[in-house]
Amino acid sequence: MPTQNTQLLVMLFIMAALLSACAAGSSANPANDAPEADSNAIFQAAPLSPEDLQAREVREDAVFRIVTTTTQATDLTSILAEGVEDLEISALMGAGVDPHLYQPTESDVEAMNQADMVIYSGLHLEGQFDAVFEALSAQGVLIYSLSRPVKEAGFVIGAFDVETEQLGADDPHFWFDPRNWELTTQDLAETFAALDSENAEIYLGNAEVYSAQLQSLYDWADSGMGGVPGGQRYLVTSHDAFQYFGAAFGWRMAAIQGLSTEDEAGVGDIQNTVDFVIDNNIPVLFVESSIPPDTIEAVQEAIEAEGGSARVGVRELYSDAMGEPGTFGGTYTGMIAENVYTILQSYRCAGVDLTIPEWPTDLQPTPPDDLINVACE
Ligand SMILES: [Zn+2]
Repeated sequence: MPTQNTQLLVMLFIMAALLSACAAGSSANPANDAPEADSNAIFQAAPLSPEDLQAREVREDAVFRIVTTTTQATDLTSILAEGVEDLEISALMGAGVDPHLYQPTESDVEAMNQADMVIYSGLHLEGQFDAVFEALSAQGVLIYSLSRPVKEAGFVIGAFDVETEQLGADDPHFWFDPRNWELTTQDLAETFAALDSENAEIYLGNAEVYSAQLQSLYDWADSGMGGVPGGQRYLVTSHDAFQYFGAAFGWRMAAIQGLSTEDEAGVGDIQNTVDFVIDNNIPVLFVESSIPPDTIEAVQEAIEAEGGSARVGVRELYSDAMGEPGTFGGTYTGMIAENVYTILQSYRCAGVDLTIPEWPTDLQPTPPDDLINVACE
């Protein structure tokens, strides 16, 4: 494990402050000669061979210390590590936190400095972490990207070309296709097994059980989302987090903001969304749990001003953060399922004739009754 180094911590904070200034729009100050190229560089975790991983011997210490960034990373790590003793998971982001904007705190950096392994989502989702990851990686901390196995597999999404659609930028929201999450599950379990060979069977066994759950979740969600007639499958949201979700289930997406929430929505973005909703006769708009509702409300008002109408969904959608720990939406399975319920119930409330499929008896956790039974206002 790397030793703690006060100087490094200080340097990390200077770098984080520079990044933060860039994100806040420091281009207003042309005299600022911060190293533009460096602060815009996107960190990419290096691929590691099984030999590289085995050489790291996490059990040299009594405890295997893991730091996770997003709620999705924390959920998957906990599931795969269930039953492994002397393993600690420190989660950096909680429910409702926007990972595009989250700045690592002093205690976050300290936890990562002390960790055997940092697990992050990647593809620039954690937009404020690049410099910190670069420094930690240079110092020898193992940084693992959950999106890397999915990117290497070419993004397993139904006939949807991310590169073309997003003008060459990788869309970071890959977890929204449960088939992508299954690839990540397998790769992370194999990585844990190589790093901590005495517990290899536990990690791989947990991955096998969980992969079957993810397949069951995908089948259930696909049958539900496919119940909406083809011409009506539109999902309108605040930011563009649902391209993989849409591609997985045959829906078309429209968002006011782009792939990241770092760029603010402008008047043109609002008007484009209004036009799209009116032109396609879309009955529902969705607010996301990690993003303020303002832009969706502005779209709704503008639609009404033009003589149209659109409802807001019966619940907020989970996009980049899951629900509170201990709730249904606080798990990956529950988050995907709650979104499916929310979308289908909202469309049903808007008058679309559809059937929500029964929850599979073998799929955990079970949705609570107040999620299944919702009244249209
Ligand atoms: Zn996002």
